[in-house]
Amino acid sequence: MRGMSTIEIVTKKDVELVDITDSVEKFVQGVKDGVCIVYTRHTTGALFINENENGLKQDILGLLEKLVPKDAGYHHDKIDNNAHAHLRATLLSPSVSIPVENGKLVLGTWQRVFFAEFDGPRRRRVIVKVIGE
Ligand code: ZN
Repeated sequence: MRGMSTIEIVTKKDVELVDITDSVEKFVQGVKDGVCIVYTRHTTGALFINENENGLKQDILGLLEKLVPKDAGYHHDKIDNNAHAHLRATLLSPSVSIPVENGKLVLGTWQRVFFAEFDGPRRRRVIVKVIGE
């Protein structure tokens, strides 16, 4: 299998965690053995894998807000008032790679794939590239 697919996400808040696992999994149907690369080209959003539990999602956002508060005198805020969003995205990653077996993502029972919005609301795109057969 070759090629690249895109998932569109419309975020509704300035900061938001969106579970995109089901959308990603659609692209690995029929792939017996491979790897799925999920990647975003945005600089104020990121990807990560963890559990979809409401309290935990609040904790993750709370941790990032504590580590990188808004308006803390960042240089980038002089030209674009969203340095905190770039810095939070930098602490995560623009991509995750997941093994694929028998048409399924090889994820742990509690693992889900998230898009993290740090400068919403916006229309976002996530690229899914599946390598395998
Ligand atoms: Zn910026």
